[in-house]
Amino acid sequence: MTDRLPGFSTLAVHAGAQPDPTTGARVTPIYQTTSFVFNDADHAASLFGLQAFGNIYTRIGNPTTAVLEERIAALEGGTAALAVASGHAAQVVVLQQLLMPGDEFIAARKLYGGSINQFTHAFKSFGWNVAWADPDDIGSFERAVTPRTKAIFIESIANPAGSITDIEPIAEVARKAGVPLIVDNTLATPYLIRPIDHGADIVVHSLTKFLGGHGNSLGGIIVDGGTFDWSKDNKYPMLSEPRPEYHGIRIQETFGNFAFAIACRVLGLRDLGPALSPFNAFMILTGIETLPLRMQKHCENAKAVAEFLAGHSAVASVNYAGLASDKYNKLARKYAPKGAGAVFTFSLRGGYDAGVNLVSNLKLFSHLANVGDTRSLVIHPASTTHSQLDDAAKVRSGAAPDVVRLSIGIEDKEDLIADLEQALSA
Ligand SMILES: *Cc1c(COP(=O)(O)O)cnc(C)c1O
Repeated sequence: MTDRLPGFSTLAVHAGAQPDPTTGARVTPIYQTTSFVFNDADHAASLFGLQAFGNIYTRIGNPTTAVLEERIAALEGGTAALAVASGHAAQVVVLQQLLMPGDEFIAARKLYGGSINQFTHAFKSFGWNVAWADPDDIGSFERAVTPRTKAIFIESIANPAGSITDIEPIAEVARKAGVPLIVDNTLATPYLIRPIDHGADIVVHSLTKFLGGHGNSLGGIIVDGGTFDWSKDNKYPMLSEPRPEYHGIRIQETFGNFAFAIACRVLGLRDLGPALSPFNAFMILTGIETLPLRMQKHCENAKAVAEFLAGHSAVASVNYAGLASDKYNKLARKYAPKGAGAVFTFSLRGGYDAGVNLVSNLKLFSHLANVGDTRSLVIHPASTTHSQLDDAAKVRSGAAPDVVRLSIGIEDKEDLIADLEQALSA
């Protein structure tokens, strides 16, 4: 043993995992069981009363999923994490701990299209109101703060345009307002950006994308930064008030710097129910072992493809923060020095029709609604993921009619460029 702190790649392979104590299995087994036998009646009572940690029922926790949670908490530099069934489930569970009906949260306009829909429509039925701010204008966050604001939500690398968000000044706005900053770190992964290091209090992910990385399993996760004081001003009663369902304990007082992750598990996941399947936890854990290698290749390929497109006569513009000429290159060098990710957009001189044609003519790229696969993916947001937005909202969220989004995979970059070349000249 040494005192060395393990590096990122070592944590990606080992954090949270040990050989199975019963069988010696080196890879974390899939504990495909709904429930767990108690030692005796006292043990059962202490688990239910939150006096002891342990397994009860897979909706609340599972040993395979627990390894995934510990691993991602380590990679993000958080105190604890809670895995759930999808990225969208993570967003619901987080905000349910923070907002009461009539409360508000501020969200950056440049977001995954599904998040824009969730915030605008589904959350309205819970009585949660979203105020939109422009991630390129820090003042727009300040101006949106009201006495009912309970959180700020941004993406580190924003979907679909791959723009880099200036996290630190937005974290400062959140601190002044006395609310947590939630960062969706899906497109960056902790390999490229660790938002907690820049002032975020909570990190959420769609594990479906680069973390799982192989396009085979949905999942989501919530990481507690352990940085926020939930007891101040009784602003967050779920965390600061006695909980009748747990003998009157106060979550913040009892669990300290991992109180938020506990609240998400024992109040959110337990009652709302979006549990991750242990099988998906296993698939995603396996994916994470190669996260550093994959992200290096994703970023290297994305840069090469972006450079090729920037020099092509059919292309009007390329938005890739890894290009020296890009508007976000300075922020990319500050927040994501290892690479600007692998999801970006470009626009075609031929407009909407050219976008639709390109998508139809590509052969190696798959036309589908996902990102963060080993395979290269393409989509025309205006006719698909962002089609429900009106034209002005499409433009504001980076999905104008002439825009095509790519998610660059880990194939040989020469093959990706050849495919784009044939499709652009078809
Ligand atoms: C996909 C995605 C989500 C939603 O995640 P699901 O796992 O599909 O529910 C949220 N945020 C971002 C940035 C995404 O790419």
